[in-house]
Amino acid sequence: MNKSDSEHMLGLLDEIGYKTTDDIQLADLMILNTCAIRAGAEEKIYSYLGRWRQLKEKYPGRLIAVGGCVAQDAGESLITRSPGVDIVFGTHNLHRLPDLVQQAKTTKAPVVEIFQELPEDLPEVPVIRQNSISAWVTIIYGCDYNCTYCIVPYVRGREKSRTVTEITKEMKELGQAGYKEITLLGQNVTAYGHDLNPALHLGHLLEEAGKIEEIKRVRFLTGHPRDLKPEIIEAVANVENACEYFHIPIQAGDNRTLRRMARGYTVDFYKKLVEQIRNKIPDAVITSDLIVGFPGETEEEFLNTVNLVQDICFDAVNTAAYSPRPHTPSANWEEQIPEPEKYERLRFLNTAVSEVSHRLNKRLLGKTIEVLVEGKSSRNPERLTGRTRGNKIVNFEGKEDLIGELVNVSIESANPWALRGTLVN
Ligand code: SF4
Repeated sequence: MNKSDSEHMLGLLDEIGYKTTDDIQLADLMILNTCAIRAGAEEKIYSYLGRWRQLKEKYPGRLIAVGGCVAQDAGESLITRSPGVDIVFGTHNLHRLPDLVQQAKTTKAPVVEIFQELPEDLPEVPVIRQNSISAWVTIIYGCDYNCTYCIVPYVRGREKSRTVTEITKEMKELGQAGYKEITLLGQNVTAYGHDLNPALHLGHLLEEAGKIEEIKRVRFLTGHPRDLKPEIIEAVANVENACEYFHIPIQAGDNRTLRRMARGYTVDFYKKLVEQIRNKIPDAVITSDLIVGFPGETEEEFLNTVNLVQDICFDAVNTAAYSPRPHTPSANWEEQIPEPEKYERLRFLNTAVSEVSHRLNKRLLGKTIEVLVEGKSSRNPERLTGRTRGNKIVNFEGKEDLIGELVNVSIESANPWALRGTLVN
């Protein structure tokens, strides 16, 4: 979401004449788009701001702006903690960035503007996309859940869906502009449309995307398992360009932990959901998110999470050690797990995840798979890199003019994170 928001910031600033530079020494305006999901990310912000302040002292007149979730939460206090910051804006008023920049330039005083919620009529925000093959399209903002560890509802507000008309228009424009892949984005994308009148669901959007011939692949990220209703699974099964890829965050493989996280489902519910998907779409790629070291998590409960990874056979999992966040109930609970223990559990879990991912990737050896070519491999410029419909990375040798094309690759080797193969003509 933040990367997508940054592309909108570029679009907004372009309208008032700003261009991007790779050299920060030349920047008239430095913007930090912040993330509050983990304490580590938040701490980095202040070290960036310290360095930027030195630049500002060297080149007076330059502006520093801070947006995103940390800015939404910290507001004015960001300026107290980091003198030198000129503009603080939140997650609900990104569209106001050009005005705030002009204001800071004119008044030469810090400008802080935080909205408590999104405006009733969401303005259309220009965008400059950083990728010409694959595009993000935000379909819903915010989250109505209150997981006890999560700061997102506090900084992103309640769920608010964009209309199908707006989203379809954006998707069609992307198709006409040559984009091949769209990822429908939101904090809880599976809840899409419940707040519209009449209510709709994500399946409707997938069907709309399916009518756009130029768009070869559509994905969605990320959603709550409880909202992944059969009609959405049905749409993925039936719509040709909807990728058989489900990222379904479970967060823990233990019922007591899930209850204390307030996730609103049990391990059994989740397993049945995966079964429903695999019954409908046998080759579906299923990935997830897991947190270890949640306050009070016992060794046995942690091992239930490890066993779940082996049981479900996830293609990949984003794992994280629990990070206490402000405004969240679990941050104040006693029984916080010591950091070394959390990281030990994380290492153990990552080994299990890698073993399972490797096993699943090896099943693809000898198969020919459709790959959307994204660019040159960063590790070997002689090679190209792309993704399967299941979002697995594939590296292979090929000419640059294949970038942006769908090609077939015969898979010859696999590791837990990527596949390698040969182009099939
Ligand atoms: S559903 Fe996701 S975004 Fe919403 S509160 Fe829970 S973890 Fe946070």
